[in-house]
Amino acid sequence: MGDATTNSQLLDRYAASLVGVFGRPPLVLSHGDGAYVWDVDGKRYLDLLGGIAVNALGHGHPALVAAVSKQAAEAIHVSNLFTSVPQIELAERILAVAGAPEGSGVFFANSGAEAIEAAIKLSRRTGRSGIVAAEGAFHGRTTGALALTHKVAYREPFEPLIPGVTHVPYGDEEALRAAVSTETAAVFLEPVQGEAGVLPADPAYLRLARELTAAHGALLVLDEVQTGVGRTGSWFAFQQAGVLPDAITLAKGLGGGVPIGALVTFGPEVTGLLTAGQHGSTFGGNPLACAAGLAVLETIESQGLLDHARVVGDHLAEAVLALGHPLVEGVRGAGLLRAITLTQPVSAKVADAARDAGFIVNPVAPQAIRLAPPLVVTTAQVDEFVAALPALLDAAACKEPTA
Ligand SMILES: *Cc1c(COP(=O)(O)O)cnc(C)c1O
Repeated sequence: MGDATTNSQLLDRYAASLVGVFGRPPLVLSHGDGAYVWDVDGKRYLDLLGGIAVNALGHGHPALVAAVSKQAAEAIHVSNLFTSVPQIELAERILAVAGAPEGSGVFFANSGAEAIEAAIKLSRRTGRSGIVAAEGAFHGRTTGALALTHKVAYREPFEPLIPGVTHVPYGDEEALRAAVSTETAAVFLEPVQGEAGVLPADPAYLRLARELTAAHGALLVLDEVQTGVGRTGSWFAFQQAGVLPDAITLAKGLGGGVPIGALVTFGPEVTGLLTAGQHGSTFGGNPLACAAGLAVLETIESQGLLDHARVVGDHLAEAVLALGHPLVEGVRGAGLLRAITLTQPVSAKVADAARDAGFIVNPVAPQAIRLAPPLVVTTAQVDEFVAALPALLDAAACKEPTA
């Protein structure tokens, strides 16, 4: 069966050859163009998930393709016993767009979880081991990051995990006050909880986290793996909250699909916590991934994609609300990280109906549909989806008896 090439034939081969942690995927995707992707049967979809907030420039963006192709021909990898121009330039560019103070630094990894691992190790260098994270938090699947991730079903099969982690209700100021002490190494928060269903923090909550950590000598780490790199309409979500954390973690959108993660440490004191020999990565910061990251940052700037994400995201939210559909409760989030919240727990049925109709969306929670399209998605493309949405909602609602 080595030559089976339809969706269903390939998915049988998938099931027979891959570890089953992702279940059975619905489609085999072959290629894309901008915000559209095609499956192996030739059907086209508007990709409103963007590889889970990864394909910031969509598929096949000429600037990213050119940068990766050129770099691949020059040097894909040189090891961290040496460095490369793309690595240095990407670090400088990240610090510039973050408005980082003098003495800040970047550590490159290959994924979000690895960026979190680096942040956990950074926090241990305070001489403390307590970590405060939030209920609903998602920080990744490696065993360190998993200890900070809240969902019991993800954590329990792998316990014992690293000790010292306390989870507090997200957004609860009193609980945060009670949890942070002189034993706290760091507070880890997502400015918008993506995996929990696109739940934005009140800026006042993030400011309180900043005050409490500063007062107790603990680090504030904001996990911007999902929110960073233009996703919410600014380079980073912390910039909208008016808070300068001690560190941020980045990954998803940074390479536009090429694997890369980063820990960004602000100021010389925090940056100096990790010294020669204390951390490392074989692949992290290789010239191919860094050239991709540079192309992403340069294109976001040259195409005005921060403003674009804000404008198109606001338009999407207004247009969905204007439908006045009884199944729509509201729209959460910022920029192009949004959730349509539902009055019934039928998001999976909406996502199935959407896929049949040629739209990829994500049923992130039973009553929330996450949208994280490429930042290059157009208003006209968003309108295609909004026009189709009432029928998709009707299909989901009538399949699910309300009583
Ligand atoms: C996706 C995600 C991670 C984990 O990233 P991986 O690349 O899958 O390891 C961590 N934190 C947040 C906020 C995420 O959204």
